[in-house]
Amino acid sequence: MNPDPTPSHPGRRSVLAGAFAIGTGALLSSVLPAGVARAAGGPAIADTNAWGARPSSSPINVLAGVPDKVIVHHTATANVTDYSQAAAFSLARSMQTYQMDSESWIDTGQHFTISRGAYIMEGRHNSLSTLLGGTQHVESAHCTAQNTVAIGIENEGTYSTVDPRSEQYAALVDLITSICRQYGLRAYQIYGHRDFNNTECPGDRLYALLPQLRRDVAARIGGDPTGPVWPMLSSGASGERVKTLQYLLVQHGATLTVDGSYGPATQSAVTAFQNTTHASADGVAGNQTWSQAVAPLARGASGSAVTAVQSQLVAHGIPVTVDGAFGPGTQSGVTSFQNSASLPADGVVDARTWSRLVA
Ligand SMILES: [Zn+2]
Repeated sequence: MNPDPTPSHPGRRSVLAGAFAIGTGALLSSVLPAGVARAAGGPAIADTNAWGARPSSSPINVLAGVPDKVIVHHTATANVTDYSQAAAFSLARSMQTYQMDSESWIDTGQHFTISRGAYIMEGRHNSLSTLLGGTQHVESAHCTAQNTVAIGIENEGTYSTVDPRSEQYAALVDLITSICRQYGLRAYQIYGHRDFNNTECPGDRLYALLPQLRRDVAARIGGDPTGPVWPMLSSGASGERVKTLQYLLVQHGATLTVDGSYGPATQSAVTAFQNTTHASADGVAGNQTWSQAVAPLARGASGSAVTAVQSQLVAHGIPVTVDGAFGPGTQSGVTSFQNSASLPADGVVDARTWSRLVA
């Protein structure tokens, strides 16, 4: 078996992004070996059979629907110089062994792994088949509180003080492009692990590359790659943004009066939420807290988070009924807001629309 990391349509690829072919020119092949698959136009991905995975210890949970983001990690292992396929497959096996035997997970945590040699591999079983199907994904174990909504990609190496190899980065762009196409995600929905959990992952250097990564993916799939920017709220703050935060905390189970005042009760609820989601537990609502607190909302949704959106729309001068039910009136209000904010007017309150509402 020879998982070939080269594109199946090199002519089209070279038009879209010449840099993509770095290091792979000698491996061009139109026939995929056993154990390797790719979505249309996507990179070759070696499945769990190809690298010799153990069976999962429990059935994999296949989730209906598509994820709403991609989260980038580094493995925090050595920056090896063996770029072979054998080394890649050995990495995949050792990660699975560690995660099952030492972490007691049912299988590899992440959906996909990219080796230093730029080999792309399936992590958790069924990640590849569900990606190819484009309508389901598998529950994972790579980012606390995001494992049912986020595709996780581990990049072999430690990128705190050095960048990934250009070949590895190119494979990452290609894999995420394919994930976005299969699941209908946008380039700005690419995040780093540290956007959600109290961790250094994916390292300062790889994290600093994420804006470029979003731009490189957007160059292939279109759209504005600018990600959400969140306000920092702390004790003593007040106003509509604090109300939004409070509504979201209530949505996540807090018992809290929504009064627009960031007092001790709000601070305590923020800290509890941060602990639950493995964010930095400092009682200050910043990037991690907001990123963990918001979920996409669309017509048919109901609850406190919907109330938050409606209250924000009213505060922005868009008259909607504040009743916690996301009906046609709310959808129309969201669309109006998105138009005024130069966002894609799809009527869905995703993280970027949330961030603009509280900006
Ligand atoms: Zn990570």
